[in-house]
Amino acid sequence: TATNSHSPPSLLRFSFRSFSIRAMASHIVGYPRMGPKRELKFALESFWDGKSSAEDLQKVAADLRSSIWKQMSDAGIKFIPSNTFSCYDQVLDTTAMLGAVPPRYGWNGGEIGFDVYFSMARGNASVPAMEMTKWFDTNYHYIVPELGPEVNFSYASHKAVNEYKEAKALGVDTVPVLVGPVSYLLLSKPAKGVEKSFSLLSLIDKILPVYQEVLAELKAAGASWIQFDEPKLVMDLGAHELQAFTHAYSALEASLSGLNVLVETYFADVPVEAYKTLTSLKSVTGFGFDLVRGTKTLELIKGGFPSGKYLFAGVVDGRNIWANNLGSSLDTLKALEGIVGKDKLVVSTSCSLLHTAVDLVNEPKLDKEIKSWLAFAAQKVVEVNALAKALAGQQDEAFFSANAAAQASRKSSPRVTNEAVQKAAVALKGSDHRRATNVSARLDAQQKKLNLPILPTTTIGSFPQTMDLRRVRREYKAKKISEQNYVEAIKEEINKVVKIQEELDIDVLVHGEPERNDMVEYFGEQLSGFAFTANGWVQSYGSRCVKPPIIYGDVSRPKAMTVFWSSMAQSMTKRPMKGMLTGPVTILNWSFVRNDQPRFETCYQIALAIKDEVEDLEKAGITVIQIDEAALREGLPLRKSEHAFYLNWAVHSFRITNCGVEDTTQIHTHMCYSNFNDIIHSIIDMDADVITIENSRSDEKLLSVFREGVKYGAGIGPGVYDIHSPRIPSEEEIADRIEKMLAVLESNILWVNPDCGLKTRKYAEVKPALSNMVAAAKHLRTKL
Ligand code: GLN
Ligand code: ZN
Repeated sequence: TATNSHSPPSLLRFSFRSFSIRAMASHIVGYPRMGPKRELKFALESFWDGKSSAEDLQKVAADLRSSIWKQMSDAGIKFIPSNTFSCYDQVLDTTAMLGAVPPRYGWNGGEIGFDVYFSMARGNASVPAMEMTKWFDTNYHYIVPELGPEVNFSYASHKAVNEYKEAKALGVDTVPVLVGPVSYLLLSKPAKGVEKSFSLLSLIDKILPVYQEVLAELKAAGASWIQFDEPKLVMDLGAHELQAFTHAYSALEASLSGLNVLVETYFADVPVEAYKTLTSLKSVTGFGFDLVRGTKTLELIKGGFPSGKYLFAGVVDGRNIWANNLGSSLDTLKALEGIVGKDKLVVSTSCSLLHTAVDLVNEPKLDKEIKSWLAFAAQKVVEVNALAKALAGQQDEAFFSANAAAQASRKSSPRVTNEAVQKAAVALKGSDHRRATNVSARLDAQQKKLNLPILPTTTIGSFPQTMDLRRVRREYKAKKISEQNYVEAIKEEINKVVKIQEELDIDVLVHGEPERNDMVEYFGEQLSGFAFTANGWVQSYGSRCVKPPIIYGDVSRPKAMTVFWSSMAQSMTKRPMKGMLTGPVTILNWSFVRNDQPRFETCYQIALAIKDEVEDLEKAGITVIQIDEAALREGLPLRKSEHAFYLNWAVHSFRITNCGVEDTTQIHTHMCYSNFNDIIHSIIDMDADVITIENSRSDEKLLSVFREGVKYGAGIGPGVYDIHSPRIPSEEEIADRIEKMLAVLESNILWVNPDCGLKTRKYAEVKPALSNMVAAAKHLRTKL
């Protein structure tokens, strides 16, 4: 057997082995790669900047891997994953494994190294990067494989095998993890020039031989388990797609013999048909399910689970930062044990821990009580093992009772509950909230007051954030400069931004958001019920991380948040100054949300807080208020059957924020994507007076909605140029775009604005671009 072919055991391996005899049936789907203090981020960026060598990067990566393996092994985890580490993205790693490098990167065969790998990820001087897109409904982004009939697949990256061996040399026998072949293809897109109708799944027999080579090497290296991540199984798949799973896993049968095979699913429950397909796969020995988001998973398993197979029960939430309710998980696990048998149940995480923060030990400043309610990745590993031990009859009483005490404190803590807020939010549920007058009458009333030209110009909110500005904010936060000095500095900045806009002759101004670091954090810091971490970073893409606030309690607004700055800005100009708020759905979707009440309830609470702010702005004389819902679409559930419910409460939450304003107060909203053909009716139902949307990278898509005759009566500002690029658009180019829009939209509803905020641009780019934008609008006005 494979065990006999091992090299002589080292001391380390020996100690691990003796330990593994005691290891309980515990498993981790995957682990964050960035490191507890974002070590990988800094190593990557330094390497990309040419400040350190490939060896330096390799060393940081190897150290991170070994500390993760050691940590899991010390915790007593039996099934420890390998190959879930990545220097950029696990899907790109799979593309490299399959040698599916698009020809433009000039790869000539051989093992794929950093140069080709990072060129695909980030582009290089002559070639742009591959596209990236959201990984299911997470904030993680993967690199989309570009495939077609011409691709010659070949085994071009031995990363999975290398990492398995690396762990083994450290004495840790891991479960190598591969993105499953069917999900890989379903996550791909046809390469440029390939017919859109090309069936990506038709490539299955071309990629399986590479998987077979990998499996052979893993077996030879001593692997006894393999994990295939097939998260696509939770989506709405058709019979043809399900058939591909049956085909792939039976085609792999010979390669899989002698291995235990885990197929892992996550982010939702597996639909009934898919569950049947999955659990009928003969070559598979274990099935992993998400029992946190997969609310129907338990029922599915109760309805039938193949005998003799392993169930990897994902009871510890990989998508959130809350400590597990161990008592209730244990009940679930015991029920499952009754179905699958004692020796066939493995305790696991709901998905990879990639989507949660790394380690709570690096949060010394976090309030102690709140901290007792939390578990980051490192703590979740311990929870998984504690549950497995408890199942095996070795419950750690101290650990369980501390957990129960924390759960109880979370339930009863006055920090969490604000009865007035609870009542107000509950009262919202049954009723609808809409402005009394319809949008066209409102627009008339607003126009009388605002007296704007046709094709009015505006911007989305932020102006360039200079180093100086960031320093001022940082110093104020650290109490290094006085409040008075801070206010002076920000005031000066606002004044500058106002003057620039007046000189440019923009019609509706913004204050530039110089006081804001981040559009969610700024509000979270001023609302009750939010906590902030020092190191609670989660990978977004490549080296980029986000640090979501934690919503732990009922949300309320102790005092006005933006009125001071907005009225100061308005006092500097006669032109309308937009009040600038982040909407409730965006605040919700970009935070770690409490799990002790439905998401919509938390959203309604935020909506009420924003409603107070909207009304205070109105009272202060602000007549145009923008409520950004940049992330509304992101929250769309994975399964179509759940879309309507989500959209209903999300849109309702938005309307709550502004249902109480006068007809003459103009409500704007902004969205960071144009891909909303499928949710256009919900967007209309938001009933904003004006919506500005990203558009410049996909004119056609957006315009097609209106060409198809969707009735749209509110103001609309499809972005006329791309703010993600330093390129300065010409007046002609912008005018051309506006004319295209005028072909499908009435001239009296069209606004002229950039795609999004200007925060990341430089003044040298912003001034000429906006100047061309205003010139284009003025020129077209004369022709209307
Ligand atoms: N008002 C915000 C800004 O301009 C909007 C940002 C966003 O949509 N992401 O920065
Ligand atoms: Zn935007």
